[in-house]
This record gives sequence, C-alpha cells and structure tokens, in this order.
Amino acid sequence: MTLKRAQDLPEAGLIVEAGNAEAFNTGDWRTYVPVFHAENCIHCLFCWIYCPDSSIKVDTSGDKPQVVGIDLEHCKGCGICAHECPPAAKGKAALVMVREEK
Ligand code: SF4
Ligand code: SF4
Repeated sequence: MTLKRAQDLPEAGLIVEAGNAEAFNTGDWRTYVPVFHAENCIHCLFCWIYCPDSSIKVDTSGDKPQVVGIDLEHCKGCGICAHECPPAAKGKAALVMVREEK
C-alpha cells in the first residue's frame, strides 16, 4: 500500500463528498444502547428533537408523528434521548439506556 503524502490529503475541515454520513456505521463503537419501550411512549418527540445523530425513527404517515424505534446503525449511545424522555407512563420512560453486549 502506498501512503499518501501530506500534500495529497484534503485540507482539514473540508467535506469532499457531501451527504455521505449515512454510509458509515457509526453505532459500532457504542458502550450503551437505548432500548425503546413502545408501551411507555407518549410520542412527545423530545428524543427526536435532541438526538444529535438523527437516529430516532419516526413514522409520519398518520395524523401525528409516531416514534417507532432507534436507528442502531448510527446511534452512538450518548444517552441524550433517554435523559430527555419523560417518565410519562406511571413513572416509566419509553427510552432506557442499557450496557450493550457485543
Ligand atoms: S421522548 Fe420518550 S415519550 Fe417522547 S417520543 Fe421519545 S420515546 Fe416517546
Ligand atoms: S443514544 Fe444518543 S445517538 Fe442514540 S438515539 Fe439516543 S440521543 Fe440519539
């Protein structure tokens, strides 16, 4: 393999191929994973608003958007969604972080 010289590399901060983030499985280095308990979800969409990786799957085909799960190919396990998820179902939240077994 021939290594590239420094002057052959793209300048730092440049996006040489826009829109390619979806092609990368960024969920493979996660330590914790959100588990979705649909029965506790009130579809407030706080998780969707706060998720920094757009990993909350939402079905928009009906009258109101419905959270249907997590895109685990891209979720990095940051836990923000579970932190924001209200314990609305008799004190139980729909999103709970658990340690991921590999
Ligand atoms: S924050 Fe929790 S209750 Fe609200 S939509 Fe997301 S999973 Fe459902
Ligand atoms: S753990 Fe982080 S990256 Fe994964 S779905 Fe929740 S907010 Fe998004």
